[in-house]
Amino acid sequence: MTLHIYDTLSRTKKPLQPEHPDKVNMYVCGPTVYGYIHIGNARPAIVFDVVRRYLETTGYEVQYVMNFTDVDDKLINKANEMNLTVPEVANRFIEAYYEDTDALGIQRATINPRVTEHMDQIIAFISGLVDKGFAYESGGDVYFHTKKFPDYGKLSHQNLDELQFGIRIEVDARKESAEDFVLWKAAKPGEIAWPSPWGEGRPGWHIECSAMAHQYLGDTIDIHGGGQDLQFPHHECEVAQSECMTGKPLANIWMHNGYININNEKMSKSLNNGILVKDLRTTYNPAAIRYFMLSTHYRNPLNFTNEAMQQAVNSQERLANAFGNVKHALQAAGVQSVDEAREASGEPNAELQAKMAGILEAFDAKMQDDFNTADAITAMFEWASEANVYVQQKGEQVEAADLLLIMDTFEAMNGVLGLVADQEDELLDEEIDQLIQERTDARKAKNWARADEVRDLLTAKGIVLEDTPQGVRWKRA
Ligand SMILES: [Zn+2]
Repeated sequence: MTLHIYDTLSRTKKPLQPEHPDKVNMYVCGPTVYGYIHIGNARPAIVFDVVRRYLETTGYEVQYVMNFTDVDDKLINKANEMNLTVPEVANRFIEAYYEDTDALGIQRATINPRVTEHMDQIIAFISGLVDKGFAYESGGDVYFHTKKFPDYGKLSHQNLDELQFGIRIEVDARKESAEDFVLWKAAKPGEIAWPSPWGEGRPGWHIECSAMAHQYLGDTIDIHGGGQDLQFPHHECEVAQSECMTGKPLANIWMHNGYININNEKMSKSLNNGILVKDLRTTYNPAAIRYFMLSTHYRNPLNFTNEAMQQAVNSQERLANAFGNVKHALQAAGVQSVDEAREASGEPNAELQAKMAGILEAFDAKMQDDFNTADAITAMFEWASEANVYVQQKGEQVEAADLLLIMDTFEAMNGVLGLVADQEDELLDEEIDQLIQERTDARKAKNWARADEVRDLLTAKGIVLEDTPQGVRWKRA
């Protein structure tokens, strides 16, 4: 079985064949950091988190680059509005981005390059295009000469002649041709600006991705991703810039995730129906938000409704409960530490082994088919019913080896989709410290019953206590 991924450019499912046999380079266009992220931003963040996790579990080292656009018109306007500087606005919303995405269990990218920290690379890239004759300076701006790249339109499957009708022609005397796009913008008086061979200014949007992808990942990226709305013009322009510069394909595979609708309506500024992640995650378990996003294939449109979210909550709970039951059964069987149990326990039941292997195989087959998480989740529910049946039927007769196998099978799948958070039924560090303090106080007061009670409670939650001359130390089993 080989992993096949749908490639927007060739419109086929292509086998993943990275340039380097055990490394995958992935570039995903990130947010413009001038506000809190909405669920439309969360979708690619979750989708590509799963892509990255799956590639890692199949043995690849993943170099995952996702940029932050930290200077543009929207940031400049926001800075004026908030009476802050552009970098202050950017820092505030980058921090907010991490808060939201950490809460959603999204692993941070290998690198999150920012535009303002890569001016040298961006200017060098633009200069290269000017030198090669693909770009021209005009009144302090620099434009890309779109007609000089005959393949323009190949990603979004449109040709330039057709596109001309679609382009909203801005009356801009500085452009030679309507389809040319800006690489460098001359600064208006008082605006944030950087020095360049063409005078003070700042980069256009598209060029940052070409320059930063090249800086970190080289000429050709294995996977370039982003939302479907970025296909045209953003990714089309990236292709033009990068391929004119290097003469090589920018990406081997182009992945685009579908739109999110809200109550069957397009999410838009004018409808003012955007839902912010920071609000949504106070209403719903973040793991249920992940569940909702992954229960539809990433290329399909996703319709957000409160009913759909409630269904996701219920389904996520079924998985979390089944996993909780297995962990509880392990504790009830007197297993104090998973590592010890692993060493001590024998072979799991053969029939159970076959069932668990079958579930993992089905999960994998779905993931290998263009990351079909919607169907992969079905395998997790098969696991849940097997796990529940085992725990109920065996009662007191559960075997540690069987339970460990059931748990490992779940963790192999959950490690990719992240539908049940690790700590969901675990204690937080501060709660543990508080309980330990309570036990110490109880012992001082010679209230042995209470001290034992607290110790048992901690044991049941998988916390192992060790009395040392320096005081009590604890670790998670
Ligand atoms: Zn981009």
